[in-house]
Amino acid sequence: LEDQFAKAQKMQAVGNLAGGIAHDFNNVLTVITASVDFLLMNQKPGDPSFQDLLLIKQSANRAASLVRQLLAYSRRQTMRPKMLSLTDVVADLDLLLKRIAGDRTRLERRHARDLWPVMADIGQFEQVITNLVGNARDAMPDGGTITIATRNVEDHEVAAFGYGELGTAEYVLVEVSDTGTGMPPEIAERIFEPFFTTKEIGKGTGLGLSMVYGIIKQSNGFIFVDSTEGKGTVFRIFLPRFVPEPQLGVAPKVGAVEAVE
Ligand code: ADP
Repeated sequence: LEDQFAKAQKMQAVGNLAGGIAHDFNNVLTVITASVDFLLMNQKPGDPSFQDLLLIKQSANRAASLVRQLLAYSRRQTMRPKMLSLTDVVADLDLLLKRIAGDRTRLERRHARDLWPVMADIGQFEQVITNLVGNARDAMPDGGTITIATRNVEDHEVAAFGYGELGTAEYVLVEVSDTGTGMPPEIAERIFEPFFTTKEIGKGTGLGLSMVYGIIKQSNGFIFVDSTEGKGTVFRIFLPRFVPEPQLGVAPKVGAVEAVE
């Protein structure tokens, strides 16, 4: 538990630092991009500096996308939870997710009926799903299938997963699985660490899954990964079932009034 607390503190510190740097860095990038655009306006593809300027522009764009991820990462602390259905959130993302998945990848959804509500921040949960789907796509360079499934997990089913931490409670389960490369245990062990990435420079920041982890923890949930090399990967997210309080005091009964008197 102490170890987890230290990890959470470390992630918070990295988040704050990253957010501060990202903000200043963004201003610098704006100047670079605007200047390169200006120079490119007076250039033709055959000119001696054209390729170099283009390279600067592309690099600045990549840096800007990295900064956006850093800012998103540091903003994760502000959360406005609402009662919502995770099926609805995933279904509303369908178009975006298909675009992220790309042409070579099939995206399937399986939603159990009458999903319990949870307390979560829609924007944050959207980030979680888009991140997982983006990673799944990256793990399937030759195409494959991504499946997103949502269902209720009753308290007596929890132990069967073998994830001890869950205790006994009721959860809504969201599974994101892919038929990609999978990963060896020594990688799977580290994927939630900030800045851990196996992707080449400019392709990955290593912040996606640590952001996902932070969001799920903040929502009192759990996330686990099961991966088999050459077969694929499953991410399982458990969020506690939200049970709304019965509405009290809306229509006072006669008995209640008598008791006050
Ligand atoms: P990034 O995507 O920028 O590398 P993440 O934190 O999102 O950062 O992921 C960290 C690493 O976890 C990835 O570089 C990759 O090695 C591994 N990973 C994440 N998702 C999957 C997946 N679905 N299949 C295989 N490896 C994965």
